[in-house]
Formats: sequence, C-alpha cells, structure tokens
Amino acid sequence: MEDLPISLGEKLGFLKQPKGFATKAIHAGQESDQWNSGAVVPPIVTSTTFVQKTPGEHTGFRYSRYGNPSRTSLDACLAALDDAKYAIAFTAGVSSLTAIMATFESGDNLISSKKFFAGDFIIWDTFKKLGVETKYIDFSDLGNLTEALDEKTRMVWIESPMNPSLTVLDIKAIADIVHSKSKAFLVVDNTFLTPYFQRPLELGADIVAYSISKFIGGHSDIVGGSISTNNQELYEKIKASQIALGVTPSPFTCYLINRSLRTLSVRMEKHFENSYAVAKYLESHPKIEKVNHPALKSHQGFEIATKQSYGHSGILSFYIKNGTLEMSKTFFKSLKLVIVGESLGGTETLASFPWVMSHSTMPEDERIKAGVTESLIRISIGLEDVRDVIEDLGNALEAI
Ligand SMILES: *Cc1c(COP(=O)(O)O)cnc(C)c1O
Repeated sequence: MEDLPISLGEKLGFLKQPKGFATKAIHAGQESDQWNSGAVVPPIVTSTTFVQKTPGEHTGFRYSRYGNPSRTSLDACLAALDDAKYAIAFTAGVSSLTAIMATFESGDNLISSKKFFAGDFIIWDTFKKLGVETKYIDFSDLGNLTEALDEKTRMVWIESPMNPSLTVLDIKAIADIVHSKSKAFLVVDNTFLTPYFQRPLELGADIVAYSISKFIGGHSDIVGGSISTNNQELYEKIKASQIALGVTPSPFTCYLINRSLRTLSVRMEKHFENSYAVAKYLESHPKIEKVNHPALKSHQGFEIATKQSYGHSGILSFYIKNGTLEMSKTFFKSLKLVIVGESLGGTETLASFPWVMSHSTMPEDERIKAGVTESLIRISIGLEDVRDVIEDLGNALEAI
C-alpha cells in the first residue's frame, strides 16, 4: 500500500492518520442485520412507543425520548469515530453543555475562558444563578489553571483551536494538570476539527463535545450536537440528564447526521486543502497583515497542532493591513461568491466579521484582548473550486 497518495496533513508534518476512520464513518452502527428488512441505510424510525410483549418486557426501546433506533445507530457511529466507548447525540451543541451542567450541585465550580464560544456563556450565567460558579482564566499561561483548580472544581472546559484567533492549546498538558491537581474532568469542544482531524480522548480528555451544526453536519442544514467519552460513570449521568431534560434529536435529524458522517473524511480533507491554499495566498498578499491558520509555520500553534492533530479544517482568519472598519465593510460588500453569514463548516465558503457579528456583545477591551479587532475577518472555506474562492477574495481585497 506504499504507493497510495499521502494526505496534506502528513506532508505538512501533522500526525499520520491511522487506517480505518473513513470505514468506521460509513459502517459503524449501520449494520444491516439489526433491521428485519436488511436495510443498508438505517431507517428513520418515527415511532414514539414500542410494543411490550408483556408489561415491562420490551425490545430495549420503550419510548423515544429514552431511546430510539435511529439515534442508537448514530450514537454508535459517533462513538466509533472518537474510538470511544460511548457517545450521545443532542439537539444542539449547546444542549450537551446544558445536560452536563445539570449534573452539578450548588457550590461546584468549573473553569473556562472568556475567549471560548459565546453561546456557552448564557448557560454558565444561568447556572451561576443556581450557585454553580464559572472561573474564567487565560489558558495561554497554564499556571493560571493550576491556581484556579480547587476541591470544588468539577469540570474544565476548553476549545482548541479557538475562535476566531485559531489559537491552539496543548490538550495533553492541560489534561495532565487537571488530573494531577484535581478530581475534575476535562471537556474539549472539538467542533472546529471534528474527530477526523483531532481526537482529544487520545490526548487525555475525559469528554469530547461537538456542535454537529458545523463541519460534522457539513451542509448548513442541521442543528445538532454530541459528546463522546470512555468514562462509564460520566456517560450514565449525562445520559440520564439528557433524558430528563428532553434534549434528544429527532429521528430525521439522526438520519441526516448519519448521512453526513459517511462523507466526513473526504469533506474534511478537501476543506483542509482549500483552506491551506487560501491561507498561503493570503499570507503573501500585500494588503494582509497576518493570517491565522494552524498549518502555517508562522502560526502560534503550529508546533502543538502538528503534535496533537491530524490536520486542519476549513477555518481561518486574517487581519487587513492598517485595516479600518470602513475597509472591512468594503471587503464584505465586494464579495460576490463568498457568502456573508454566521456559522461555519458548510460546503459553501462563508465569511464573518466577528467585531459586529459573533463577538459584538463582548465589551470592546475584551474583544481586543481576544484578538477581535475591526480588521479581523474569519472565513470558513467550503468545497468550491478553490481558484474561484481565491479570485473572489482577491477582488474584494482589490476593492479596499
Ligand atoms: C456553534 C458552536 C457551538 C454551539 O453549537 P450549536 O449547535 O449552535 O448549539 C459550540 N461550540 C463551538 C466551537 C461552536 O462553533
């Protein structure tokens, strides 16, 4: 098998992808012998209830909020992709956090950062009212983490690479500190890379969390989330919490996510190839100050990224040289192919302006500390012919 083409990640010095990911994404949990019909694609089982031969004697399914065959197929596939024992699919990325938080008690605390996904803060604020404190720290100095951990810390929640700076955190180093200094568990939000490019459980994380709405769903038509873990106790608690809260995805959504998983590896390879080509183009452009993309040698996280991940997805960001608000606005107005909007991870290239969109509610000084300025532009590179994307970006830069 020596003469198979090598991936971009391998060429650039990232970890070598072991055999089997794409196979699992197509087959795990999808076995046709679980259905009487022999269906190769898991059926969408819409039934809310399941027959009991005698009261209490059921097939393993009794009511769809507790469990549904379409969801079971999906959970098995999601677990396989992280080499995890367990996975739970949720209604949204944020619902996995809600379900975890609902297992905490008043007086418990968790550690996170102001630089992580803004939607999570609403949940942390809500639970603060119920007595669960969130300590926000700067993870660029891991001494801050050691200092913040105490006997009431239940969870450390991180994201890497971070949005929109693409700053990379050393997951293994963080896991070592969390486990040696506390009884807390570590959750890594792996939305930006998906299990194809990064598997945090291999690096010592206890739970990996996803917004499926982004690259995993991949077509900008699903809102969903999931977690994977090898820890049975955590799995059982979070599963019970999910059922109690009712944050379970519909059978149709499960079907769509399963369908997306079948092409995850090919989509991610292409997102990476395209985003790397755009990053190289922008890096050499005279109107660009700096490009954030973990596969660029100039990036803060290049060393760690190549050590802990298998490549990078379609996300990058950049600063316009001597950029002003006016120049950024002209850039966005001049785009013809690239769509301006929230979210990321779809087949279409999507540009967003964190200053006025995702990060607009953050106080100005915090935004600037997080690298979010009036000249920062974030792009989720899609699966178009990358030459068309580069041409469109080039024309928009020409216009400013
Ligand atoms: C979008 C996103 C979420 C939240 O996911 P939803 O599916 O919108 O609930 C969480 N984390 C990251 C990094 C995200 O990009």
